[in-house]
Amino acid sequence: MDIKTIGGEFALIDRLHGIVATQQVNVIKGIGDDAAVLRVAPEPAPYLLVTTDILVDGRHFRRNWATAEQIGIKAAECNISDIAAMGGRPQWMFTSIVLPADTQVDWIEALYRGIRQSCNTRGIALLGGDTTQGELFSITITLLGSVSQDHLCLRSHAQADDYIMVTGTLGASAAALMVLETGSKPSQYLLEKHLTPRSRMDIVDCIAPVANAMIDISDGLAAEIHHICQQSHVGAQIQASMIPIHPDVKNIAANHKIPPLELALGGGEDFELLFTISAENKALLDKCDIGYYNIGRITKHKDQILLITPEGVQKPLVGGYNHFR
Ligand code: ADP
Ligand code: MG
Repeated sequence: MDIKTIGGEFALIDRLHGIVATQQVNVIKGIGDDAAVLRVAPEPAPYLLVTTDILVDGRHFRRNWATAEQIGIKAAECNISDIAAMGGRPQWMFTSIVLPADTQVDWIEALYRGIRQSCNTRGIALLGGDTTQGELFSITITLLGSVSQDHLCLRSHAQADDYIMVTGTLGASAAALMVLETGSKPSQYLLEKHLTPRSRMDIVDCIAPVANAMIDISDGLAAEIHHICQQSHVGAQIQASMIPIHPDVKNIAANHKIPPLELALGGGEDFELLFTISAENKALLDKCDIGYYNIGRITKHKDQILLITPEGVQKPLVGGYNHFR
C-alpha cells in the first residue's frame, strides 16, 4: 500500500507511532507535538525540548532560487520555530548534511554561515552533526531547548471558548513560491518570507505564560488548527474575514485568479504562531506590545472545525499541506 492511500504524512506518523509506542518514563510529551518534552530533573526544573526537521533539495528549497546562506537560515529557523511553538528557548543544535559528490566547499561554508546567523541571534550553540555523501542534498537539524513548566504550550491544551490567535499575516511564502514557479520575481517582501522565514522567538515570552495551546504554522493554518483541535478534543470556528493577509499576497492571488484565503489557509511555511488563549488571559496579552490577530474561537464540539465566510455561511475547514497526499 502506498502512503497516499492511508491518508498521507500524518496517517503514516500515527502508524509508526503505534509500532514504537512503549511505556515512557519522564516523557511529558512524545510524538505528536512540535517538539518532545522531557523531564530531566525533578520538578520544578525546566523541561528539555527536542525537535528535528529535514529540508530536501527541490522540495523545501531550490538551489537556483535560494543562496546557500538563505537555505542555512531557513533550516535553522524552521527548527527554532518548533521550540518557539512549545513556549521554549532554543539552546543546542546538531546539523546533519547529505552532500552530492560535486558539492562545492564554498557553498557548504556559506550554508553554515546562514545557520550561524540564526544561531547567533538566538544564542544557540552548534555542537555536532553528521556528514555523508548521497544523490540529493538535504540538511537535517536537531534542536534542543528548554521550557519552564508554566510556559509550556502543548497542542492538547486548547479549552472551549478560547480565542484563536495568529501572530502575523499568512500565505506569503506560498504566494512567493507560486510566482517563482512561473519564472517571475515576487516582491521583496514575499521573497524574504519564502527564502528566509524568521521564527517568532521574538514574542514567545509574551505569549507562552498566558496561552493555552500553541503550534507553529508550517503546514498551513487549516492543517495546524486541525492538529490543535484533534489533540485537545475540541472544535473551532474560524472567521474568514479575520484571517490576516498581506496586500502582496492578495495581489498574487488576484493575478492567479484564486481566492487569497486559499494561500492563507493551505500554504505552508509561514512560521507564525497559532495559539489559543482564555478571555481572561487575552486581557493580559492586550497589555503586551505585540501584534496578533484574533481569528476565531475554540468550541466544545469535538472535531467540528468550521470556517465562517464573510456572508456568515459555515463550511467545514479543509486544506493544509500534507506530504504524500
Ligand atoms: P512539525 O510540522 O511541527 O515539525 P511534524 O508534523 O513534522 O511536526 O511532526 C509531528 C510529530 O510527529 C512530531 O512529534 C514529530 O516528532 C513526529 N514525527 C514526524 N515524523 C516522524 C517519524 N518518521 N518517526 C517518528 N516520529 C515522527
Ligand atoms: Mg511545528
